[in-house]
This record gives sequence, structure tokens and C-alpha cells, in this order.
Amino acid sequence: MYYHSTQDKSKTVLSAQAIAQGISEDGGLFVPESFPRLTDDELRALLPLSYQERAKRIFSKYLTDFSEEEIADCVDSAYTVAKFGSEHPAPLAPVEFNGSKMNLLELWHGPTCAFKDMALQILPHFLTKSLAKVGGGRDAVILVATSGDTGKAALEGFKDVDHTRIIVFYPVDGVSAMQKHQMNTQEGENVYVCAIRGNFDDAQTAVKKIFTDPATRGILDENNMMFSSANSINWGRLLPQIVYYVSAYCDMVNAGNIAFGDKINVTVPTGNFGNILAGYYAYEMGLPVKRFICASNSNKVLTDFIRTGVYDKNRDFYTTVSPSMDILVSSNLERLLYALSGCDDKLTKSYMDALKTKGCYEVSDSIREKIQSMFYGGFADEDATKATIRDLFDQQGYLCDTHTAVAVSVCDAYIKETGDDTPVVIASTASPYKFSKAVLDAIDPGELPESEFDMVERIHELTGCEVPAPLANLKGKKARFGDVTDKEDMQGVVLRALGID
Ligand SMILES: *Cc1c(COP(=O)(O)O)cnc(C)c1O
Repeated sequence: MYYHSTQDKSKTVLSAQAIAQGISEDGGLFVPESFPRLTDDELRALLPLSYQERAKRIFSKYLTDFSEEEIADCVDSAYTVAKFGSEHPAPLAPVEFNGSKMNLLELWHGPTCAFKDMALQILPHFLTKSLAKVGGGRDAVILVATSGDTGKAALEGFKDVDHTRIIVFYPVDGVSAMQKHQMNTQEGENVYVCAIRGNFDDAQTAVKKIFTDPATRGILDENNMMFSSANSINWGRLLPQIVYYVSAYCDMVNAGNIAFGDKINVTVPTGNFGNILAGYYAYEMGLPVKRFICASNSNKVLTDFIRTGVYDKNRDFYTTVSPSMDILVSSNLERLLYALSGCDDKLTKSYMDALKTKGCYEVSDSIREKIQSMFYGGFADEDATKATIRDLFDQQGYLCDTHTAVAVSVCDAYIKETGDDTPVVIASTASPYKFSKAVLDAIDPGELPESEFDMVERIHELTGCEVPAPLANLKGKKARFGDVTDKEDMQGVVLRALGID
């Protein structure tokens, strides 16, 4: 299996190179040359298997330059009971909301309590093995731009991993108090965390620029280092996310919710378009999916895009209660456009160039029609998000986080609008305790306690919902980091943190 750049098809690498490098030199993203087929027999064979065994079968189709032992080693080190609290890292929780059955795919049982752990617990294992194959003895410098959850999950995944250094940038006013506390208290000798004055898009744009800047790459090279990425631009981030859609389908069959071969709908709260794209890739492999419901918050650039074919980031940016989706440049959409254009690298590049220079582009009629046949776009504003948290709790005693609430709200609207009663899986992406302020305000509006951990305590009293140990253990922990920088200075910060300025 080879990988191409979305902006230059002639670029061809194996998976180890794609993972080690993170992004192609031309600025494009690595994508598999074709989607390996999961035949009916192969899918059926996954039914009785554990999550871990399902993962190994799927990885082996993509990581053809890894041995079976290497893949098994990665999987068995990542998805452990110690890290995910049970044998099954991604269980389904069935609920009924406003009269419709919905299956919440709980992806937040990992060490940082967000779905990013599903990929970032295994990426360091993929990466160290990839470096051994193609790294030429260099250390990997992981640069991360985060809207809150990727940063902590990457720090936790890479802390004290040999031959890696990790530097995380987050928007100073763009993450929840718990997210900030999680990152600033991070342990590990190879980690550095810094806030930037700006939003997530500013951080992501600057990180991409530093990555592809020849001068900076040269300095790293002289120091026996190379950049890599833990953002969902890295193929090693997306691949693990394909697994849980396939696994959820198997669990739906095993639970008797659907018959084998039946189609499902998949709803995903979306920011950078990574999670939903992984679902789409599972569909391309042969998973029976009818529709992907793309749920946004008030930053609804994707809703508008799916409805009109025009992607326009020239609009107001909102800081919302679902900060991990406060994004106007959804990086992974580039991979979808590449796939839907029939792997047209020139066309994909022209859209991305227009996005860079004008902040907007309009896709061809054929791409727009393909998108609309497979994707439904909707959004939930702040009031709808909080009302959904409250209503779901009132109706089912189930407490969800703000991002998951956006998805539940949009899914509900979709069902009402279309009458589509296809069984639905909803990606539940974080523990409600990561966003305590908004969650508490939703279920018990009025005066809120001062401190983050008092809010956690209050939610616990009101709902009986268990506080995940990794969050409970942060109480009283001293911050190690607290620097804030301008986005123009991020490159200098990187070199200083590495001790090579
Ligand atoms: C990152 C994140 C999202 C958005 O996922 P994308 O892959 O960026 O679309 C949604 N919810 C939570 C809790 C997240 O951390």
C-alpha cells in the first residue's frame, strides 16, 4: 500500500514515511492510493473478535510495511485495561432522545477523557516503529496545534517516549479551564506547552508553516531532528479512528440492533473533519453506511459548505462551549475533496490555494452532488447545545459533554426533518467533566461555584455520574507551564524549547 500527497500525486511513500513525516513537503496530506476492501466475509469474521483483534486486521491492510508482530505490539501496548478502564475501549451506550433511539459510541474512556486518546495512545507506537524504518537515527519533534483535546492526548501519549520531543500550542482563551489545567500540569522530560494569543486556526496555520519552512527544517536536520505531527493531518492519527466505526457496526450487529448488512447512519461532532473522515474511509472500505451527519457548533462553516458547495472561512469566529470544534479551517476536508474528485491533485491544490489566498472556494457541481448524497450538515448553537444536555439527562439520566450534545441535537433535527429512521451511531467525543462549567450551567443554571473542581463536585452530586480518575487526580496539581506567546514568535519558541536557537 502506497500513499500519495493530495496536492501532488507523483509523490509516493510507504506508511512509515507518511507517519514519520506527518505532512508532505508540498503542503498536501498523505492519503492511501486506494481503499482496501473489507469484504462481507471479512467484516463478518470481525463480529466475534475483541476491539484489539479487529484493529489488527484493519491496520494490516494499510500498514503493509509493518510486520504482523509490529502491528500487534502497537495495538497491545495502546488499548489496555490500564489505559481505557476496561477490555473494550469504545463501548456503545444506547439512549432514547425525544423518542428516537440513538447509540452513543463512547470514545472518551482513555487517559485524557476525549476521543483523541483512541488515536494518540497508539500513534507514538506507530511513530517510533516508523522512525526505526525511515528516520535515519533522527529524533522526532512533534509540533501540535490544539483546540484543547489533541494537546493533552498527544502529551500523554508521547511523554517520555524515547527519540521524541513534543511541543504543544493552544489558544490562550480558547480552551476550557480543565483542558488548560490538564496541559499545564503535564509531566514528562520531553514535553513543552505554550499558549498563543490567537485562535486555533492561527495556531494551526503557524504550525503548518513552521513544518514546511525549509530553513527551520534545515536547522532541525543539522541537529539530528525531524518534524512530525500528531494532528489529524498525520495519517497515523486517522487510521486508528477507522477502527471504531467498523467495531461499532460489529457491536450493533452483536447487540441485535441491526442485522448483518443493514445500513447505519453515523453522526459526528466535527471540527477539523478528521473524525468524520475516518468514518467515511470506513464506508469506502465497505462498511454499510447510508448517511454521515456532520454536526457543527456556531462556527458552522461545514454546514454551509455541505449545503451550498461554497467553503468560506471569511466570517465571525465564535468561542463556544464546545471549544474543540471552534475551527474555521477544517484541514481534513482536503482529503475528502481529493477522494471525491477522483484523486485530482491539481484540482485539490487549486481549492487549497484559493482557501489560503482568498479564504474561500467553490467545489465543482459533481463534488457538491457527491457530498450532498453522502453527508448532511447541521449545527447547534449555544442554547440548543445546553438544552440538549439538560433534556438528555432529564429523559435518560445520561450526562453528555457539550460536543456530544451538538451531535445529538443535529441528529435529532435530521431525524425530524427527513423522517429517516436508519439506526444511528453518534460519536460521543468527551467526558462531560472536561467541560464542567457549561455542563453544570446546562443542568443547574444559576450561580456557579468558583473553582473548576467545585463544579466537578457539584455535577457529581447532582447526577451521580462518575468522575473519571485522570480528571479527579488533577485536583491541586501544580502547573509546570504557563508561557503565552504571539503567533509570530512561535518558530522562535520551538527552537528555544529544543535548545537549538
Ligand atoms: C477534536 C474534537 C472534536 C472534533 O473532531 P475533529 O476530528 O477535529 O472533527 C469533537 N469533539 C471533541 C471532544 C474533540 O476533542
